[in-house]
Amino acid sequence: MSLQVASQTSRFGAVVQSPLRVGVLGFGGLGQSAARMLAQKQEMSWIAAADQKGYAYALAGLKLQDCVAAYQKGSLGYLEAIGQLSNSSIQDLIGRAGSVEGYFLALPNLPNTFMAEVARQFIQSGWRGVLVDAIKRTSAVEQLLNLSDDLQAAGITYLTGCGATPGLLTAAAAIAAQSYAEIHQVKITFGVGIANWEAYRATIREDIAHLPGHNTESARQMTDAEVEALLDQTNGLLALEDMEHADDIMLELAGICSRDRVTVGGVVDTRNPKKPLSTNVKITGRTFEGKISTHTFTLGDETSMAANVCGPAFGYLKAGIGLHRRGIHGLFTAAEVMPQFVR
Ligand code: NAD
Repeated sequence: MSLQVASQTSRFGAVVQSPLRVGVLGFGGLGQSAARMLAQKQEMSWIAAADQKGYAYALAGLKLQDCVAAYQKGSLGYLEAIGQLSNSSIQDLIGRAGSVEGYFLALPNLPNTFMAEVARQFIQSGWRGVLVDAIKRTSAVEQLLNLSDDLQAAGITYLTGCGATPGLLTAAAAIAAQSYAEIHQVKITFGVGIANWEAYRATIREDIAHLPGHNTESARQMTDAEVEALLDQTNGLLALEDMEHADDIMLELAGICSRDRVTVGGVVDTRNPKKPLSTNVKITGRTFEGKISTHTFTLGDETSMAANVCGPAFGYLKAGIGLHRRGIHGLFTAAEVMPQFVR
């Protein structure tokens, strides 16, 4: 007797019938990891990508190695036959690639208004589909909240804060909170290890922006040499405390606790892929019987930042496409929607 794994049924049944056609905007550290991840997925087909200087689109699917080779020459726009150089790559790609159902926005949020500007471009374009970002700052999510009605009217389902933190850890906190009658504290502590900072320039610049004496604008304007000089002073380590992280507003919006009960901090090692500490979230609360307790969710040390950001991002993208197909549009956060596992 042979057992057949049933395809997913119910309201998400339609989603897995044919591969979902997806795009990735930004082709740096996370964008390339996202493409590598998609190459192993059957349920998603990667057909569009853009970087700052160009884009590529192929309904039959993009080839990872070719895209990386073109990017190393300077842009996806150099991809033979299907690449296009452009200084307005996102806008041009949206215009060309109408069959993309959803995008992962692996873009830097520098300046801090950039992601909201990208969302506005999608709204104005008339494209309908799903957008997922992994943005980090509370103030950046607030800008998207202001676009909620416009996104809904445009027929776009936008899921924000869908990386690791915010994202995976925020969602874990939302689940853990269910044991309690009242949440006292959500404490996120992350450890990130990367072999060299150049692989994740935007991530590192945005982290530097949280250090005392820095902000998003000063970090954006730092030259690569200045970033290197700063990292030389700290032996490649960035220690971050009380960060402005959107986990707080996301848990507040989900009705779990007020934002002042949520803290985020961590250590980034830019010279060693080994994590300097285990990433975890601790959720402390009071049960209905009056007991105070703490749940702890700890990520495996072997899992990379890329795995913990891109995996959830595509899980939320699949969930978002399910919502979109049911006519549910507007803005959602990672704390109010359950990600769907992408095979
Ligand atoms: P990166 O610097 O490695 O790459 C950025 C990419 O975006 C590049 O390919 C660049 O060409 C492209 N780009 C820049 N401006 C563009 C434009 N105007 N149009 C089109 N493409 C453009 O970035 P990264 O280190 O991969 O980080 C991406 C984002 O992910 C950052 O905002 C970072 O904070 C975020 N992030 C989130 C989490 C999380 O857990 N939520 C974790 C890590 C990183």
